[in-house]
Amino acid sequence: MGRGRAAWLRLAVALLLAWVSLAAAALNISNAHSPFNPSRPARTHTRYIILHTTEGAAAGSLAKIKRYGEAHYVVSDNGHVYRVIDRSRIAYHAGRSMWDGQRDLDKFSIGIEVVGYHNRDITAAQYTALRELLEDLQSIYTIPDERVLTHSMVAYGAPNRWHKQSHRGRKRCGMCFAKRTTRLKLGLTKQPLSDPDVKAKRLIQADPYLASVLYGSASDQAAAEQSQGQDAFVISGKRTAWLIARDRAESADTRYLFPDGTSKRGNEISDWRAIPAGTRVSLGDSQSENAPEQVRHVNVVSPAQSIAGDEANVKSTIYFLPDGRVQQGHELSRAVLAALPVGTRVLVGYMHGGYITAKRSAHDICGPKWRAHTTLYRLADGSLQTGDQMDENAIPPRTMIFFPE
Ligand SMILES: [Zn+2]
Repeated sequence: MGRGRAAWLRLAVALLLAWVSLAAAALNISNAHSPFNPSRPARTHTRYIILHTTEGAAAGSLAKIKRYGEAHYVVSDNGHVYRVIDRSRIAYHAGRSMWDGQRDLDKFSIGIEVVGYHNRDITAAQYTALRELLEDLQSIYTIPDERVLTHSMVAYGAPNRWHKQSHRGRKRCGMCFAKRTTRLKLGLTKQPLSDPDVKAKRLIQADPYLASVLYGSASDQAAAEQSQGQDAFVISGKRTAWLIARDRAESADTRYLFPDGTSKRGNEISDWRAIPAGTRVSLGDSQSENAPEQVRHVNVVSPAQSIAGDEANVKSTIYFLPDGRVQQGHELSRAVLAALPVGTRVLVGYMHGGYITAKRSAHDICGPKWRAHTTLYRLADGSLQTGDQMDENAIPPRTMIFFPE
C-alpha cells in the first residue's frame, strides 16, 4: 500500500469515527404514534413546553400515553425518546390548566412525559436526551427557558370540599423540573419565580409545599424536600387527605387505613374532619387520572345538588346511575335528586344525543364535535370515553353520545 493511500485510509477512518460519535450524541428518537394522532387538530400557537412525570414504570406508561395520545413525547428511563403525537398537533396532557390568565394550555403547548416520579431525580440518560429535546423544541418554536413549565405549575383544581375557590396544587406532576439544580443540568438558566395566577388572585395557593418547591430558592427547595420524607402518605394535622390524594381523595380506588386497623374507600367517607391523624392513604393504581375531567362523582356527602348546583334539575345535567340508567335533571324529582346513590356520575352542561345507530351516526347527531375531547360516549358496559378516543367506524352497539351545549 502506498503512502498516499494509507493517509486516505486514516482520514476515512477518522471521519467515520467522528460521524459515529456525532450520531451517538444525536437524539435517539423513534415513532410510537398514538392511534389518535391523525385526528388531532393542528395547534396554532406554541408558547410553552410542559414537563410531566409518569409516576410509573416505562413500559406501562408509554402504552397508556400512546393509547390516549396524552403527550407529544415520552422520554424513557434509558434516554430513548418516543414520538406519540406530532408536535404540530394538539396532545391532551395538561387537563384543567391555566398560566398567566390563559386557560386550556393544551392549545398552546408541547407536552413531554418523562418516565419517573415527581419527587425523584431523573437518570443521566434522561438528562442528556431531555436537554437535547428541549434545545430542539425551544429553537423551533422560540420558547425561552422561563416558559419551560411543569404540569404542577399550570394545573388547577375547581372548588371542592377542601378549597372553596379554584386553586393551584391539583397536581405535583413534573415538580422535580422546577428544582434549580435540575434545570441547570437541562441547560435551563431561567424559570418563573412566582405563580402569576396566584399573584393576580385568579387562584389560591392550596399546596404550600408545592409552592416552595416550584418557586423557592435552592435552600427552600431542599428544606421542603426534607420536610416531606417517609410520612408523605400519612394524614396529620397539616397534611389533609386532599394534600395526599388530591383529585383522587374521594375515589373508590383510594383507601384510608385508620390507626385502629379498619379501612374505608374514598367514596365511603362522610366526615372528612373525623379522619384521625395517623391514617394511612393508599392510592389505587387506577384509571381515574384518565377519567374524563368533566364528569363528577356523587359521594356520600356530595349529593348531586352540591355538584350541579342550580342546574341539578335541568335537562342539560345528565346523571349516570350505578344501575346503568341515564337520566336528565328535569326527569328527576327533588327527593330523587337528594338521594342519588353513591357512584352516580354527573355531567353538567351537556346535550343528550341518544343512541348512535347505523342510520344515525355520531356525526349526524353533533357534527364535527363527534370527535372532540369534550364529547363523551357511554358504552354499553357503562364506561365513558372521550370523543378523541373513538373511531366513528367502530362504535360498538348501544353506545350513547353526549356533547357540550
Ligand atoms: Zn402531568
